[in-house]
Amino acid sequence: MKIKQSNRVKSVPPYMFAEINRKIADAKKKGVDVISLGIGDPDMPTPAPVVEELARAAKDPKNHQYPDYEGMFAFRDAVSKWYKRRHGVILDPDKEVLTLIGGKEGNLHISLALTNPGDYCLIPVPGYTPYRTSTVFCGGIPHEMPLLEKNNFLPELSKIPGKIAKKSRIIFVNYPNNPTGAVAELSFYKELIDFAEDNNIVACSDNPYSEIGYEGYKPLSFLEVPGAKEIGVELNSLSKPYNMTGWRIGMAVGNEEVVKAMGTIKNNTDSGVFNAVQLAAIKAMELPDSFIEKQMSIYQKRRDLVHKTLTGAGLSCTKPKAALYMWAKVPEGHTSASFATEMLEKAGVVITPGAGYGKDGEGYFRISLTVPDKRLGEAMERIKRALR
Ligand SMILES: *Cc1c(COP(=O)(O)O)cnc(C)c1O
Repeated sequence: MKIKQSNRVKSVPPYMFAEINRKIADAKKKGVDVISLGIGDPDMPTPAPVVEELARAAKDPKNHQYPDYEGMFAFRDAVSKWYKRRHGVILDPDKEVLTLIGGKEGNLHISLALTNPGDYCLIPVPGYTPYRTSTVFCGGIPHEMPLLEKNNFLPELSKIPGKIAKKSRIIFVNYPNNPTGAVAELSFYKELIDFAEDNNIVACSDNPYSEIGYEGYKPLSFLEVPGAKEIGVELNSLSKPYNMTGWRIGMAVGNEEVVKAMGTIKNNTDSGVFNAVQLAAIKAMELPDSFIEKQMSIYQKRRDLVHKTLTGAGLSCTKPKAALYMWAKVPEGHTSASFATEMLEKAGVVITPGAGYGKDGEGYFRISLTVPDKRLGEAMERIKRALR
C-alpha cells in the first residue's frame, strides 16, 4: 500500500540542514574532527539541586500517575513568583499560567487554539521555524515580517498590509532574538500592543532568552509593558537559563482567555508534564540569581572571543546584548550555504547558513555559543586560519 501523507506533512520543507548534515557525515567518515557551532543547546549541566529533586520525586509513587494537564499548582505558583522576582510581572497562578512541555510545544498549541484555516499569522523572518510550521499545520497562512539589520532586526509593523493585518490571528515576536541576537525595548512593545489592539490580533512573545543578557543587560518580558496582558501571552522555558533543554518544561503566561484556550487543546492532546519534572523545575526557579549571572559570565567570554575572531578576520558582526548567538555577514561573493560549506571543508567547523531561517537570513550565518570553551577556542583558531 502506498501511504498517503497529509498535506500538512507534505508542507514541511525538506529539512533545512539536510544538505549540510550529509556533508558533515562525509567529513566525519574521512576522519575530520568536526566541531559543530550549529546547535543552540546549552553544553553545561543542569544544576545539581534540580537533578537531585528529580531523583527524589521520581521515587515517590504519588508522582507516578497522570499529571494535571495545566500543570501542578506548585509549579504554576513558582512561575508566578519567578516572573515577579525576575521581571516585576504579577501573574495569577490559577488563570494566567499554563505548564508547557517546552516552549516549542506552546508554539503549536497557541496556533491550534487561535488559528482557523485560511487565517493569517505574522511571522518574523529570519526566525525560529516552528512559527511557520505551526501556522501551516492549522491551515493558516504565514505572512513574513522581514527582520532587517537597518531596523535593528525589528519588524516594521506599519508595512504590514492592512488587509492582511485584519485577517491575522497571531503575531509572533521573539526578543532576545534567535538567530540575530537582537533585543526589543519598551517602545517596540508599545507599538506592538497598539498594532495588536487595532487589528484584534493576539501577540505571542516567544521569550526563552528572557534571562540571557550580557554585561548586566536585563532583557524585557513583554508582560512588563502596560496593556500586554490584555492582548497577548508570553511563552517561556527553563531550557536555556537552567541548562534544561532535555527536560521539556516551560510555561505560557499572560492573557487568561488565551491560556484557557491553549489548556483545552492540551487537555485533549498531551495530558501535561511528569510531576517529578515539574517539582525539579521549581528548584531551578528557586536557585539564586547568581546562578544565571555565573552562566552569563561564561557565555560572555565566548561571545567576546567569537566577536574578536570574526571581526579580526574582516567579517561584519555586531556584539549581541543578549541570547546565545552571533549573527554575522558572510564574506563578499559567498551565499550563506557556500560559506557554510567552505568552513566545513577548510576548517572542519559547522556554522548555520542564514538562509535556513528564511529568505531574509540570506547573506548571514549563525554561530551558537553553547559549545565548551576549549572546543570553541579551537574552532576560532581554525576559522582564523581558513580565512587568512
Ligand atoms: C530554544 C528556543 C525555544 C524553546 O525551546 P524549548 O526547549 O522547547 O523550550 C523557543 N523559541 C526559540 C526561538 C528558541 O530558540
